[in-house]
Amino acid sequence: MKIAAVKTHLLEHRLDKAFESASMRFDKRVHILVEVICDDGTVGWGECLGPAGPNRAVVQAYANWLIGMNPLETEKVWAVLYNALRDQGQRGLTLTALSGIDVALWDIKGKHFGVPVSTLLGGRFRDTVRAYATGAFKRDGVDRVQDNAEEAARHRAAGFHAMKIKIGFGFDEDMAVIRAVRDAMGDDMRLMIDGNHGYDTIEAIRVGRAAADYGIDWFEEPVTPEHLAAYREIREKQPIPVAGGETWHSRWGMREPIETRAVDIIQPDLCGCGGFTEMKRIADMAALHNIRVVPHVWGTGVQIAASLQFMAAMIPNPVRVNPIEPILEFDRTDNPFRQAVLTHPIEHVNGVVTIPDAPGIGIEINRDALRDFAPKDT
Ligand SMILES: [Mg+2]
Repeated sequence: MKIAAVKTHLLEHRLDKAFESASMRFDKRVHILVEVICDDGTVGWGECLGPAGPNRAVVQAYANWLIGMNPLETEKVWAVLYNALRDQGQRGLTLTALSGIDVALWDIKGKHFGVPVSTLLGGRFRDTVRAYATGAFKRDGVDRVQDNAEEAARHRAAGFHAMKIKIGFGFDEDMAVIRAVRDAMGDDMRLMIDGNHGYDTIEAIRVGRAAADYGIDWFEEPVTPEHLAAYREIREKQPIPVAGGETWHSRWGMREPIETRAVDIIQPDLCGCGGFTEMKRIADMAALHNIRVVPHVWGTGVQIAASLQFMAAMIPNPVRVNPIEPILEFDRTDNPFRQAVLTHPIEHVNGVVTIPDAPGIGIEINRDALRDFAPKDT
């Protein structure tokens, strides 16, 4: 069995209403899928986190090494591709592009052996996961406090047990949002705050101390991801558990945050940190240090499906009775192709998502949607 071709599929949708986090503005949604085709006709799907155009260029560069390799040899392929760009690419796009390829290869491997990826990873510990709603961005032309509070009420009504909101826009405004959202969702829902590295150390500590009164599960990316000493200081000086990891890549990028306990919760992204091959190593390393893993998920149904396979195989600690089950990040922002790319959308029921058990990552791609959402100018 050999890899015969590698294709990329750009997906794009211009939003009616732009929204923003502290670090990024979205006036359109752009994502990229990776399709790996084998000489026996088997096809695998993956996705890359981050800017779609640059990811596409790196995936296409990797194809030089990939064509002709055995897709079942996922460790070997990973090592060869990483080595190919290692000298200038130990993090960033080289890893996000490699992630999309690695996910596609595991999809192929599952299809080849007729089992879901979760079985290949070592076994399914669960068939469902609770999802948490990610949303409450700052949207153009609306009152942020009221808008976020109304969204919290909708997620509660939909059955979600938890919600993550965006902060990092300034102490007073953020605290008004946190108060209003807690009010709207009630005391029994879990609430997380994501600074998208909008603060500095002093302001993050101030926000954490004030927000703690509102029962916050974690404070995500309080400061820029390069500043691990600042993460440690924020952990020490305010009471909310600190989370981060969506911009850290590979086992080497995760090692220092884990070993120095810069975070309470590490959030590797399967489609960014290096795919299944590397995510397994990162989760094992986190377990070694008793750091909780909550995968970051920000993509289409392909990434959701892949992340679900990984989450099915996450080893509980302790094994027999485990109140700390992994939870799925479930993006609730405007993105019409997120589920349209799947022939069977992955939706939640009362905040719970069933993990597919078909071979590979358990999905079929709706090629009509790939055509419908292809950028019109390419
Ligand atoms: Mg985040």
